[in-house]
Amino acid sequence: TIILKAQNINKKYGRTPILNGISLNVEEGQFIAIMGNSGAGKSTLLNCISGMDQPDSGKILLLDNELSRMSNRDLASFRAKNMGFIFQDFRLLEDMSLLDNLLVRGYLKQSKSDALKQANDLLDKVQLLNVKNHYPSQLSGGQKQRGAIARALMNNPEIVFADEPTGALNSAAGKQVMETLKFVNVELKTTVLMVTHDVRSASYCDQIIYLSDGKILGNLTLDYSKNIS
Ligand code: ADP
Ligand code: ADP
Repeated sequence: TIILKAQNINKKYGRTPILNGISLNVEEGQFIAIMGNSGAGKSTLLNCISGMDQPDSGKILLLDNELSRMSNRDLASFRAKNMGFIFQDFRLLEDMSLLDNLLVRGYLKQSKSDALKQANDLLDKVQLLNVKNHYPSQLSGGQKQRGAIARALMNNPEIVFADEPTGALNSAAGKQVMETLKFVNVELKTTVLMVTHDVRSASYCDQIIYLSDGKILGNLTLDYSKNIS
């Protein structure tokens, strides 16, 4: 099942074209990497696809909902309910515990007690239950990012977007984070779309889309077997 469709996306900054007619489909359960050199337009594409930024033309449909047709308010609520986000710089709230970072997001679609149950369950799955009451400043980079992954999964989003999730980590922590994302994709059956310029990180994905000069230069499938449902 295709859950996300981007059709003929164009985007300029000033007079400089950044995205030139990009189309792509994301199937339920896929783990896709968007790769390309620095400045290729990866983050711009991710931001457009996830409704954080608006393309100049083209359509983005998530579960048959066209993002450009929503009011800002509806889009904000639609994004919060259906999409999870992971950033290079973690973006945990520093003035609250890891558990509370998850709960802040978790009340959106469920009761407080269900959110608490889900937060504990997810922190267990990313192996952070023992530090759930720590504040972000007390966690390592890898722990912060695994916490951010757990936060992104609160409310069971249809799709998780990750922008350079290993970009701020050393190689050991980066590897652990990628193993966690792979687990989230395979075992928790979450669709993940990730931007990375790191080949080792991309090797965990089942499809790599290579972006150059705002166009898709190539599309490599690494593992079909997983996509058969
Ligand atoms: P990547 O993620 O592949 O490194 P980006 O999507 O961040 O690339 O950026 C693509 C190009 O768009 C770059 O040349 C960048 O300088 C430019 N760019 C990105 N965001 C903006 C912006 N808000 N205003 C103007 N130019 C931008
Ligand atoms: P190298 O000397 O090759 O740079 P590293 O210390 O960077 O070795 O990496 C050690 C191992 O960890 C490598 O075998 C690599 O597969 C893995 N690794 C490193 N960084 C990442 C990453 N960001 N994602 C996944 N695996 C990684």
